[in-house]
Amino acid sequence: MTQEVRTRIAPSPTGDPHVGTAYIALFNMCFARQHQGKFILRIEDTDQARSTTESEAQILSAMRWLGLDWDEGPDIGGPHGPYRQSERKGDYRQYAEQLVKQGDAFYCFRTPQELDEIREARKAAGLNPGIKGNLELPEAEVQERLQSGEPYVIRMKVPDEGVCVINDLLRGTIEIDWAQVDCQILLKSDGMPTYHLANVVDDHLMKISHVIRGEEWINSAPKHQLLYQYFGWEMPVLCHMPLLRNPDKSKLSKRKNPTSITYYERMGFLPEALTNYLGRMGWSMPDESEKFTLDEMIASFDIQRVSLGGPIFDVEKLSWLNGLWIRENLSADEFMTRAQDWAFNEQNLAPMIVHIQGRVETFSDIAPLAGFMFSGMLPLTEQGFDGCKLERDQLKRVLQFSLWRLEAQRQWSKDNVFADIKAVSAAMGLKMGEFMQPIFIAIAGTPNSWSVMDSMAMLGPDMTRARLRHALNVLGGFSKKDSKRVEKEFKQLALS
Ligand code: GLU
Repeated sequence: MTQEVRTRIAPSPTGDPHVGTAYIALFNMCFARQHQGKFILRIEDTDQARSTTESEAQILSAMRWLGLDWDEGPDIGGPHGPYRQSERKGDYRQYAEQLVKQGDAFYCFRTPQELDEIREARKAAGLNPGIKGNLELPEAEVQERLQSGEPYVIRMKVPDEGVCVINDLLRGTIEIDWAQVDCQILLKSDGMPTYHLANVVDDHLMKISHVIRGEEWINSAPKHQLLYQYFGWEMPVLCHMPLLRNPDKSKLSKRKNPTSITYYERMGFLPEALTNYLGRMGWSMPDESEKFTLDEMIASFDIQRVSLGGPIFDVEKLSWLNGLWIRENLSADEFMTRAQDWAFNEQNLAPMIVHIQGRVETFSDIAPLAGFMFSGMLPLTEQGFDGCKLERDQLKRVLQFSLWRLEAQRQWSKDNVFADIKAVSAAMGLKMGEFMQPIFIAIAGTPNSWSVMDSMAMLGPDMTRARLRHALNVLGGFSKKDSKRVEKEFKQLALS
């Protein structure tokens, strides 16, 4: 390759650091390193309502924990910054307006109601119900509306018919009918760019040579390809990786599996084992070895070895591999230091002390009292819930509804967790005392522990959710038929 290889990972900081992000980062990094290129981290935070600085910080620290180091990024800078889209806000408008001037994009003043009418009319005509067709207004009318300060968006023009052919490094040519592609908004009415515009502009400005990303973005490729053409820029090579899946083959989702890297850190996995396992997702070493280091992966890397059948992310297999790493790769000294760093570090211990100190007589009381704070899934049994006042079905609802409510909680703090729990118990019309019993058992293994709100705050969102899910499973969960009903009930409580 003559051009310098430059790859990137472009996470949106709208949630927990996802294993899928780490997976894609790993392959981008290996590809760049193998070609003596650069790997860039860019934060795509144009969705200002959903982006948070906490999420960005967590993503950076999770990637660093895994050893997926970048050469340019928002924290370390680089020659093609800024690496955070919100810091380039003003620039995107110019690019969108350039396309309007060239006749490749247009101002759109349609109200939501008018847009619905367009969709309905297209549907009735048997067409794809996207925003498409000849939607441009005469120039004079556009100017008049702009001058009167009417809100507008800028949309790109997209052919009505024909086939768009995309080249993909792994998939060869992909054909998508232009009829399926809508006149994508490029600039929103608040002046912010959409993902599509910002992503293309940034990849160009950052001289990205290869875009390696998840297959969920394939349908965006025609829009991107067209934007590159409109701008007259060279398009990076595209490579769409397979999606990670749950053992039941569905798309990896936190409803079924913990997906946050912080969960795996909290569970005491080794970062090198997690990276190794992600390297086994749709990829293998030439000698098929199961256990390999990041350096070994880079040395043997070949993107053509990626197989497209959806790789299964199976926590049991990951645990097995982690066990191999622990037993075979750590000396006794390393094991001691690493375990100590994991559990008995100040950050972990400090918030626990106020709960422990007031409740013990000797240091030897600490382990039985606080052991659950250092555990993964607790050894629960069905009988363990016998002391609860509520009957089984209600118990399960308490756990399920709390879980669903907490799955939506983005700002994890004791107060917010408390507010969620209170809201669920009030909506279910249950007394707090009765409601809390199963929650205590799920989180602390016993009803006799310190404030479970504090425990949940300290354990963090992933471990808390995983334990609630585990308790539900121990109680047998809901049958397929019941889960539909229960989901409906939850909706009726208006908690989601
Ligand atoms: N911001 C997108 C994401 O969250 C980036 C997709 C891409 O790599 O183009 O995954």
